[in-house]
Amino acid sequence: MSEHALPSILINDFSENDILRLPPDFYKKASSYLNKSDIKKIQKAYTLAFYAHEGQLRRDGSKYITHPVAVSNILLDLKMDPDSICAALMHDVLEDCDVNKNNLKKLFGDSVAEIVDGVSKLGKLDITSKNDRDANNLQKMMLAMSKDVRVVLVKICDRLHNMRTIEHLPRSKQIKKSKETIELYGPLALRIGMQDIRAELEDLAFRCIHPLRASMLESAIKKSSGGRKRIVSKIRRELKRHLKSNGVENVGVKGREKNIYSIYRKIKSKHKPFSEILDVYGFRILVDSIDDCYRSLGIIHNYFAPIENRFKDYIAIPKSNGYQALHTSLLALNAFPIEVQIQTRNMSEIASYGIAAHWQYKTADEDSNSELRATKWLSGLIDLQKKSNNPEEFAQSIKTDLDSDEVFLFSPKGDVYALRRGSTPIDFAYEVHTDLGDTIVGCKVNRSEVPLNVELETGQTVEIITSKSGSDLDPSWLNYVVTSKARSAIRSRLRKQKVSDARKAGKVMLETELKRGGTSLDEYRGSALKKILDSIGVTSLNKLLTDLGLGKRTGSIIAERFYSGLQIREGIKEPKPVLIIDNKIESVRVRFARCCLPCYGDNVVAHSDTERGMVIHHKKCKQVTPFIKKDPRYMPAIWGENKKDHLYKVRIDINTEDKVGVLSDVSSVFARSGINIGYVNTKTIDKKFAGFEIQIEVKDKQELRQIMQKIRAMKITTSCKRNINEK
Ligand code: MN
Repeated sequence: MSEHALPSILINDFSENDILRLPPDFYKKASSYLNKSDIKKIQKAYTLAFYAHEGQLRRDGSKYITHPVAVSNILLDLKMDPDSICAALMHDVLEDCDVNKNNLKKLFGDSVAEIVDGVSKLGKLDITSKNDRDANNLQKMMLAMSKDVRVVLVKICDRLHNMRTIEHLPRSKQIKKSKETIELYGPLALRIGMQDIRAELEDLAFRCIHPLRASMLESAIKKSSGGRKRIVSKIRRELKRHLKSNGVENVGVKGREKNIYSIYRKIKSKHKPFSEILDVYGFRILVDSIDDCYRSLGIIHNYFAPIENRFKDYIAIPKSNGYQALHTSLLALNAFPIEVQIQTRNMSEIASYGIAAHWQYKTADEDSNSELRATKWLSGLIDLQKKSNNPEEFAQSIKTDLDSDEVFLFSPKGDVYALRRGSTPIDFAYEVHTDLGDTIVGCKVNRSEVPLNVELETGQTVEIITSKSGSDLDPSWLNYVVTSKARSAIRSRLRKQKVSDARKAGKVMLETELKRGGTSLDEYRGSALKKILDSIGVTSLNKLLTDLGLGKRTGSIIAERFYSGLQIREGIKEPKPVLIIDNKIESVRVRFARCCLPCYGDNVVAHSDTERGMVIHHKKCKQVTPFIKKDPRYMPAIWGENKKDHLYKVRIDINTEDKVGVLSDVSSVFARSGINIGYVNTKTIDKKFAGFEIQIEVKDKQELRQIMQKIRAMKITTSCKRNINEK
């Protein structure tokens, strides 16, 4: 609670007179690459942050505003876009000032508001991981929570400034933050390819945790550096001379300094003495083209003896964060082992700044839409996939990083679990321990109680409430669990029950379902009941109830049969029930089939699958066409109104002329229409044509039709068809 409430005029709107001047250095840096209207927006952000933090102090006694200014300064050095700069200036204003997300939206637009909100949310994850698995899950969770990758960028720069000024914190907090930095923020920076910031983060954290070891290492490096410098510059000159005399133009050769934490890590993990690790000299050769990379490699291998088995081609097979270079180890001047990285200048820029290099703001360039460039970076990565020797793993790493099929959840103790998207508290309980699943009676999510069939979301803390006497065995749980662990555990418990118990449970279940539809089991007798049982395919009611209790059949689907039986008896002409796909179906989980990926507006069929609940297929999908008429488990379905505003995944096949950059041309059409790409599979058709299978997200059939028209209108397109798994 700040005593200086924010002047309401600032929240409602800024007049020209309210706007404060930027600090001079900051202004100079910003105006070196941003235009006037961008600067005006940044000034507004600065003004709001200034008043929001007025009266607040940092631990070192300086005004709080100096922190957000320093953070956005780091982003200015990366030449980031104005929205990121604004968000960085205001990244702490949602915390304890009188500003909310809507104010920001009104004043600065959606993307600034979303970035600030995302950074605040990440800030609330106050966590230190206990093991490697947790650390890895936490990194993924942070990426999953940040729909816009700029959230992670701002967060990393925030951490960098906090680490630079860490000496003002109490010792215990210093250690905690430093550990977090090494486990979480360093690897996260690496994941999005920011090598330089990662090195600085790690060194700061290492110096804080082990000040003595760090200073010993540093003085050892210094001691050896006199002679070292001479050798380094001699080798550098040699390398440059050989490359030039062999016709490689515009070569840069740099001696490469390793950061102290990476030296320390090597000493620890490889159990090698310090001298041996330091005696490896690192060099980076920068050239203009990929061709020159390979030529340079050949040339230096002619002059210096390569050390066997140390060559790595990350140009042909890039690392999953997009890093590209040739690595080789040689013996220079007959005595010194050297490590050489060869890159184009462009590759080197991307290696230092990572995804930030793609967000960089270029005013002069017409094609300066940074979002578009980031999308290109992504599709570029997908292009690289073709060259990777393990494409599956590669695709997986990108996919889980940017469009996660998993949700990441905390136990109350702070352990992190990765579960399939769609998981419920029951799935979570069985994931943690079978005993926990077998005794679950309730659940709290972020401290408030929720039903057991609620879908869990990334970042939530899940507390399972158990009872010593065990949970009531409920076969309907099978309708909403999604993990195989939970499903098989529930099955095996159900199988262990006595037949009479199963029948009882089945009866309770069916009665509950029927009650929902305003009827009861008593209303069904004699031949009407017989007809229904026939249509289901069971010999007796007892058998049906036992099946239900054992989880072999789904209650709500059986209930549907009973309703339609009643309607037949009452003479209402509706031979088959119609399933309405909407949010009201609580007891059955509705899923969209992955084989045909239907979207809102399609003609669809519902398949009641005992394993998976209701699965919605496209009417023309070959998985369902043979059965629609004969099999009662398939019923027509229509879309409910409240399913309209969802995003549906659909798949389209595009064939184009095979030219350089076709994929980025195609993906920019999606980007311009604001359509997300899920994945791209490339197929080579022949020398002239390329094929892509692309998964995108659309609101409905209408939007899909429009975007397909745009793709067809491109010169290079030869065909564009939706894939609904037809025959
Ligand atoms: Mn901060």
